Amino acid sequence: MSDFVTRFAPSPNGYLHLGHAFSALTAFTAARAAGGRFLLRIEDIDGARARPELEAAIYEDLAWLGIAWETPVRRQSEHLDEYAAALARLEAMGLVYPCFCTRKEIEEALAAPHGAGSVYPGTCRGLDRTARATRLASGRPFARRLDLGAALARTGPLAFTESGVAVAVDPQRLRTEIGDAVLARKDVPASYHLAVVHDDAVQEVSVVIRGADLAFATPLHRVLQALLGLPTPAYRHHRLLTDASGRRLAKRDGAATLRALRAAGMTADDVRAHLELA
Ligand code: GLU
Repeated sequence: MSDFVTRFAPSPNGYLHLGHAFSALTAFTAARAAGGRFLLRIEDIDGARARPELEAAIYEDLAWLGIAWETPVRRQSEHLDEYAAALARLEAMGLVYPCFCTRKEIEEALAAPHGAGSVYPGTCRGLDRTARATRLASGRPFARRLDLGAALARTGPLAFTESGVAVAVDPQRLRTEIGDAVLARKDVPASYHLAVVHDDAVQEVSVVIRGADLAFATPLHRVLQALLGLPTPAYRHHRLLTDASGRRLAKRDGAATLRALRAAGMTADDVRAHLELA
């Protein structure tokens, strides 16, 4: 067996649709072609949105597609202590700060005439010790954010490979596209970014295959890997499926779920054939 390890990492907060099928089949086929391993990870860290029946539906739909995965399946909700430990390491490096801003306050800051860009402007980064202590003591909910500038100063220049091509992390782009990312919230103990980076390392994923909609996050993931001393997988972001009008398939637009297609008489072979043509 080769050392090729990839994964499909759905969140159980909706039924899988054709876009998921494309992602899962792309990763599964790549693993097969490389004689490697295919893993499944359930990204159920957002307890308020994850539903057990949707997790069961993921297994059912993937099996129907003819996909086989290794067991046991890693479920993020079972590893919260690991994410907390990773967060604590970043905190110990002085790279995390509490952010007390509400969504509304952030929106207002961005809408202000001088509010450049579309990412969090770093308001709480500059709070002094006393202001921070007062807010913490008030019991106000807060998010923990990565101080991106300090993080980049610590890591120095970074790169990763995208579809076999070396790509340098562009600090300026990272600042304007992601900024001081949230790493944890009161109700969600670890953000997608922190959990995914930790899990890919623990699961020894060598190639991350996922949709192009997540490509923006890869430079941040590379930064977190460097900070936490984790290996960097290779990345392959695949194209996104679009509907007849050219719009990206998305759950919120009611994209046809695999179970609806199945109920309508479509077979797994039909889905594969459709996706190869799509
Ligand atoms: N859980 C993410 C999603 O459902 C995918 C994470 C990843 O592939 O890195 O969009």
